[in-house]
Amino acid sequence: MSVKLPIYMDNHATTPVDPRVLEAMLPFFNERFGNAASRNHPFGWSAEEAVENARAQVARLIGATPKEIIFTSGATESNNLAIKGVAEMYREKGNHIITQVTEHKAVLDTCKRLEKGGCEVTYLRVGKDGRIILDDLRRAITPKTILITIMYANNEIGVVQPIAEIGKLAREKGVFFHSDAVQAAGKIPVDVNRDSVDLLSLSAHKFYGPKGVAALYVRRKNPRVQLAAIIDGGGHERGMRSGTLNVPGIVGLGKACEVAQADMAEESKRLSGLRERLKEGLFAKLDEIFINGSVDHRLPHNLNVSFAYVEGESLLMGINDVAVSSGSACTSATLEPSYVLKALGVGEDLAHTSIRFGLGRFNNEEEVDYVVDKVVQTVQRLRELSPLYEMAKEGVDLSKMQWQVAAGGEH
Ligand SMILES: *Cc1c(COP(=O)(O)O)cnc(C)c1O
Repeated sequence: MSVKLPIYMDNHATTPVDPRVLEAMLPFFNERFGNAASRNHPFGWSAEEAVENARAQVARLIGATPKEIIFTSGATESNNLAIKGVAEMYREKGNHIITQVTEHKAVLDTCKRLEKGGCEVTYLRVGKDGRIILDDLRRAITPKTILITIMYANNEIGVVQPIAEIGKLAREKGVFFHSDAVQAAGKIPVDVNRDSVDLLSLSAHKFYGPKGVAALYVRRKNPRVQLAAIIDGGGHERGMRSGTLNVPGIVGLGKACEVAQADMAEESKRLSGLRERLKEGLFAKLDEIFINGSVDHRLPHNLNVSFAYVEGESLLMGINDVAVSSGSACTSATLEPSYVLKALGVGEDLAHTSIRFGLGRFNNEEEVDYVVDKVVQTVQRLRELSPLYEMAKEGVDLSKMQWQVAAGGEH
């Protein structure tokens, strides 16, 4: 067997640039290098033409029109622009924003910043499956609510939110709806009209495009959304985002959208097949393992599993030729369990031993089989050393044990 190591299975963090995307970008570094804002010579026209072509490619992927697409430096910026832009523009109308607890930090920290400036933010809880509860949302809307911001799909657990239902509710109540669709765009069908989404963020590097370039969809009619800019300058992007356009990056983003749209049906089928192979491989040989988040409402390429009776860091060390993410986030000095898993009610121990597998376009069956073997061997080896696992297997109810010293975990 010839699997090339290390294996990359962390495609929610970023993805490699697809060769077709790279090829489309290359001429724009040195041949067609013009500034898309240069109006009076062919260098500028050529760059502008490429930018407008990319704008149409992005629009097509999400069912929008090209004029509704604003280019930015990343989805972090798109999220900031959407949320802060609405908050400032519609201050007279209200100051209340609704979001939910498992959003990406680019949304949560933006909301926190606005709270300091006098906005009120409701953070909806999620159920054990990772989805918001629509009745909670309905109850949270007040006459002061100007924006609902709920992600399309989660970056850790791959859980897809009930976007069309949220959009319908937002529309009924006359509240704008923004969705961070970074993990969904290019992977599953996203349509801003079907879903009644008014603002939507996506980022090239999460679907085989380059890093540092992204888009924000801003609805132009029924209803028209206006945004206050957060970057001032030359008035590019219809005044919403000043700054010379990153032409090669934008061309790459557009091409990545075109490729994703053309291949989506086939690719998601192939990746969900690989995901099932991974899942079944693990479940066939290991007990006491748990899937985090809804199985039914989930991205096809995501699997997030907790392994009981092992130690998180030892597990990761044991599979160090496989690039994955864990449910522990290193903050300054301490190892914090993931706030997303915590919100689902996953205990600290199981959060620390969770692994996020993010399959991608360039993974294959041999790699999946290698990863299954490696994880199974590592978990089995670690459990052989675990008195807790042995006791659990002997039928001792660990929850009724009286510990003499703290046994780690929830204090
Ligand atoms: C990666 C990611 C972002 C940030 O996107 P950048 O383009 O890297 O700034 C925002 N939201 C989600 C859900 C993400 O996965």
